[in-house]
Amino acid sequence: MTTTRGDQALVDAVNVTKSFHGNEVLSGIDIQVHEGEVVCLLGPSGSGKTTFLRCINQLETIDGGRIFVDGELMGYEDKGGQLHRLHDKRIAAQRGEIGMVFQRFNLFPHKTALENVMEAPVQVRRVSKGEARRAALELLDRVGLSERADHYPAQLSGGQQQRVAIARALAMKPRLMLFDEPTSALDPELVGEVLTVMRELAQDGMTMIVVTHEMAFAREVADRVVFMDGGVVVEAGPPEAVIGNPQHERTKAFLSRVH
Ligand code: ADP
Repeated sequence: MTTTRGDQALVDAVNVTKSFHGNEVLSGIDIQVHEGEVVCLLGPSGSGKTTFLRCINQLETIDGGRIFVDGELMGYEDKGGQLHRLHDKRIAAQRGEIGMVFQRFNLFPHKTALENVMEAPVQVRRVSKGEARRAALELLDRVGLSERADHYPAQLSGGQQQRVAIARALAMKPRLMLFDEPTSALDPELVGEVLTVMRELAQDGMTMIVVTHEMAFAREVADRVVFMDGGVVVEAGPPEAVIGNPQHERTKAFLSRVH
């Protein structure tokens, strides 16, 4: 039985492979992320970063390997080396421990900021409306939006919508936050306010995996940077090494393009 793993890492991805229609997108990814760590995933478009994030929280199924979160095998039960897909309910419960923030904010357009943040705790966790409202107001305050609680997404800027999306993910009290290029759909002047919220979250000890092209953010906030290309990890280490002094030609070429 290796359904759980007595490893220290909060996220332990072992030899993960994934293909779409015969096209291998992840070719044996090994990544560990420890509690409280911030890991930035860098790499050219199409290198598999988003797919890897989606595999962690089971928005995609993997073809090979294992992903453990907090020692628990994601999506499957391991019976003597044979993997059996878990029931949807169990997968939903695993997913509930993981917050994800997308490039597009995906807020419910017909709900206010407050209602968006309250939605999952009330619908999924069956938290009382009063309690969910109190927690949501606290979270909106944390992302600097208590004044905007009653606004609808269309009445908010992109940066404000993304901060609501972060508050909404935090409302489920996740062990882990996944960010998929959270600032790349924003006008440049709105990027900073979202990165500030993310920086504060990192300082508060949240475990985070962040796909980003914001090199300054990665340098400052990441404990480790992982550079992916063509579905493999090319280089990983502290930002001062990977960004400051890359060893591989592919990393150097990528960095010279984004800097
Ligand atoms: P990145 O995040 O590094 O830009 P992605 O993980 O989005 O890379 O994509 C990796 C590759 O997988 C790309 O070639 C992309 O076209 C392909 N891909 C991603 N999702 C799908 C899908 N649902 N169906 C088919 N191909 C996909």
